[in-house]
Amino acid sequence: MKFAKRVAGTQNAGLNDLYTAPDPQQISFAGGYPDPAMFPQKALQVAMGEAMTNRAAFQYADSWGFRPLRDQLAAMMAADGIKTSGEHLIITQGAQQGIDLTARLMLNPGDGLVVEAPTYLGALAAFNQYEPTYYEAPMQADGMDLVALKKILMTHQVKMIYTVPDFQNPTGAVMSLEKRRALVRLANQFDVLILEDGPYRFLRYEGTTLPPVKVFDTEGRVVFLGSMSKILSPSLRLGWLIADPEIMAGIEALKGAADVESSALIQRAVSQYLSRVDFPAHLAQLRKTYRQKRDVMLDALHCHLPADFTITDPQGGFFLWLQGPKGLDMTALQREVLLPAHVSVVAGRNLSPAHSMVSGARLTFAAPAIGDIEPGVQRLAAALSQGARQ
Ligand code: PMP
Repeated sequence: MKFAKRVAGTQNAGLNDLYTAPDPQQISFAGGYPDPAMFPQKALQVAMGEAMTNRAAFQYADSWGFRPLRDQLAAMMAADGIKTSGEHLIITQGAQQGIDLTARLMLNPGDGLVVEAPTYLGALAAFNQYEPTYYEAPMQADGMDLVALKKILMTHQVKMIYTVPDFQNPTGAVMSLEKRRALVRLANQFDVLILEDGPYRFLRYEGTTLPPVKVFDTEGRVVFLGSMSKILSPSLRLGWLIADPEIMAGIEALKGAADVESSALIQRAVSQYLSRVDFPAHLAQLRKTYRQKRDVMLDALHCHLPADFTITDPQGGFFLWLQGPKGLDMTALQREVLLPAHVSVVAGRNLSPAHSMVSGARLTFAAPAIGDIEPGVQRLAAALSQGARQ
């Protein structure tokens, strides 16, 4: 069949390389999965049962989502700094759909799109469908390189900037307060939309929480995405998008065209769950667990890693970035050395549109069992030194 061009762009995004062949002995630092032990299975079962007692849970509803849930999430985000109401918040199928719908709203083929390098692979897969012209702004320890961004904005037509300011996937970096303000100023100056993807916001293990970029939005040009995937369960496919009315009207129309609405049953269950449990206490428990895992991974890496590799030092989220020496091909190393040693990472190659991050890799400490982290790092470090010698 003669498929549309967008299919090839998305198939080549590298998503398939993420999840390596099943190997029962493998310790995986690859997939960005939450720790399955942290799913509040019982509480969700009760909430789901309760939601099912209402006939409306089985009926079509509207594309905006279940209003009580929208109000609950808006209140949660208001406590986090974004002064909003349920009216300005739409429910999506995870943050992934928020990325897709915003790109669909904004991008004609060839339109300029700035992404961080490296960035979230799934976002690139979504963006590829709309055939943008990509520009890469390198990641720094304090977030996107704004000098590079300004240069891009001064020399090219850009419609949208995609950023993960909090515990970025894949580096774990946090954008500084000054950069958050300056990013909005630049977007205002050059008339660009900012897509702020924030699924890790509530997973800070140390340091002070910074306000979302959306807080500094003076002209209604920042779209904020949230998600229950990392803090409750990804299978709920429950995310939210906050934007100003003009953008929202477009998003709502596109959401209706894409999937009519998110599941009313799931939305009601999540709403029940949030009203029954102490969600801040649940978040505190998550932070405690992931902080421990992060510490184990950082200690092990500092102890075992060969001297020519460096790592980032994430204050939250799921990920850190491992940077190898110049010229190293992490994809080849994974295939030839890491996988045979029963350990896996996400090689950097596909984590930027220009494949500029070939000698780095993303590691997660969230999914592996805590007892597997140190042995996994030992395997990884031994394999990396072996690979570097070859
Ligand atoms: N954005 C980022 C930065 C992510 O890391 C992820 C999940 N890996 C997503 C979006 C998609 O998450 P969701 O399950 O909410 O669609």
